Amino acid sequence: MGANHTALDAACPDCGHTQVNRLLRSGGWIRLERELQLPIAAVPEQHRWFIAVDGYAVDAHGNEAHCYIAHHRVCSRRPHPEHMAPIFSAIWQRNRALDGLAFD
Ligand SMILES: [Zn+2]
Repeated sequence: MGANHTALDAACPDCGHTQVNRLLRSGGWIRLERELQLPIAAVPEQHRWFIAVDGYAVDAHGNEAHCYIAHHRVCSRRPHPEHMAPIFSAIWQRNRALDGLAFD
C-alpha cells in the first residue's frame, strides 16, 4: 500500500501467520497482533501499544479507547501466557484453536 513506510506485513517466524510489523522510534520494530484492537481496560498499561499518527508503534498512553498487543505474547507457537492478564490467555487460546492446536 505504498505510502506507509512504517508498517510492513511479514509472516511470523513461529506460527507463519502474516502480522503487521510496526517501526519503533527507538529504531527497532514490533510485531503487533494483526488488526486486533482491544479495550484498554482489558490490557495492563505496560502492554498497551498504539499507532501514532505518523504510523509508528508507541507505548505512550494516549486518549485512545483501544490498543494493540504484541503478537509474540499470544502467538500460537509460544508458551501459554498464563502469568499475564486474562485477555492474553483468551487470545492465545483463540490462536491455538485457529491453528488446530491443543490449548488446555
Ligand atoms: Zn506467531
